[in-house]
Amino acid sequence: MEANESWSERAACRAVDPEELFVEGAAQHRAKAVCSGCLVRTECLAYALDHRIEHGVWGGMTERERRALLRRRPTVTSWRHLLETARWEHERRSGAPGRHRQESRSAEAG
Ligand code: SF4
Repeated sequence: MEANESWSERAACRAVDPEELFVEGAAQHRAKAVCSGCLVRTECLAYALDHRIEHGVWGGMTERERRALLRRRPTVTSWRHLLETARWEHERRSGAPGRHRQESRSAEAG
């Protein structure tokens, strides 16, 4: 993970031994439980997909799940853009004042 990835500071797994997320095979399905309540799951998954990270659990997905997703969507050039747009659309349709929009408003307010 790059130092300028500020989302990582809000990662639920910060308190978890990294070795727990970099297990092999079926153990990854147990390991990804830590991601279920993570506030930066979208950012984490987008980072792993955009950087083609092959190992470990990222964004609540195992290595195998991410490989399958990349195979299904070979033309995606920015997973970050795709996932953030999907989240924004979901929040807009549901009328929920999502975290993303709240952060945008805070940034606009200065
Ligand atoms: S989604 Fe999972 S691996 Fe990614 S930052 Fe959150 S807890 Fe860590």
